[in-house]
Amino acid sequence: MILKTYILGIAFCFCYVFALGQNAFQVVPLGVKGGSDESNLSAYLVGASGTNAYVCLDAGTVHAGLEKAIASGTLKGNVTTLLKENIKGYLISHPHLDHVAGLIINSPDDSPKPIYGLPFCLDVIKEKYFSWKSWANFGNEGEKPMLNKYHYTPLIPGQAVALEQTTLRVQAFELSHSAPGQSTAFLVEQNGDYLLYLGDTGADEVEQSNKLASLWQQVGGLVKAKKLKAIFIEVSFSNEQPTKLLFGHLTPSLLMKELAALDKASGNSIAGLPVVITHMKPLDDREEKIKTQLNAQNTLGVRLVFPVQGELMKF
Ligand SMILES: [Zn+2]
Repeated sequence: MILKTYILGIAFCFCYVFALGQNAFQVVPLGVKGGSDESNLSAYLVGASGTNAYVCLDAGTVHAGLEKAIASGTLKGNVTTLLKENIKGYLISHPHLDHVAGLIINSPDDSPKPIYGLPFCLDVIKEKYFSWKSWANFGNEGEKPMLNKYHYTPLIPGQAVALEQTTLRVQAFELSHSAPGQSTAFLVEQNGDYLLYLGDTGADEVEQSNKLASLWQQVGGLVKAKKLKAIFIEVSFSNEQPTKLLFGHLTPSLLMKELAALDKASGNSIAGLPVVITHMKPLDDREEKIKTQLNAQNTLGVRLVFPVQGELMKF
């Protein structure tokens, strides 16, 4: 009887450790920066753990990022096959070039798939890029003739939608990006676990907005329940940037203020949450400054993560 209890105890421990060690998401950063290096701009492949089916959250850099991920052993195969077969769709936060250039440039080599986004964003892609004026119309709407490779899939804020050919679901939320400029946060779900990706965003106090406050209300409960596995959010500038030159972006101080609001909305349970810092705009020693300032101001105890192009992340 004692032996049986002992064996059961060991089995239980193994299961517990195994469950704790399981990740819901795998993320391959194809591009991690803001700014002018066109080979490394915002784009993140997100998939359920253990699968090869990804969606691409923003698509500033695609080709160069896939090359990096292959070189580092994160992804197997060649760029064309990965582009065609493993990227099952794009979620675009806003239509600025540093978030869509990779999608547009790679479109001739791509396979048919959806582009998800809020209508303001899809309209710009449709009317300004896939328009036969700046690029061929690879979309299924807009200027004729339509090549019908990409199908526009408009999202409605707060409504969950299944992402085709994956086990993931997504909800979109509006963000303010240099008001009246808009952007989007995507809350990706895999079997009850969540990952939150924010496109470029300013702080509510600077944007005269309540978009982040209402997002924090939406996800606070998930943080409290430990269901939110990571937040991807931008810090484009260091604290030295004058407010009037922020252009809808965050600094370390502004991010920490916003995270304090999320902490409050989560019943003070944000400590330990992985916060992935995206979209740093390189200039002289600015990236090092941003990291130093974030670490110095991290009184909430979040886990700051600085993504590297092509290197696998698990959450
Ligand atoms: Zn940007």
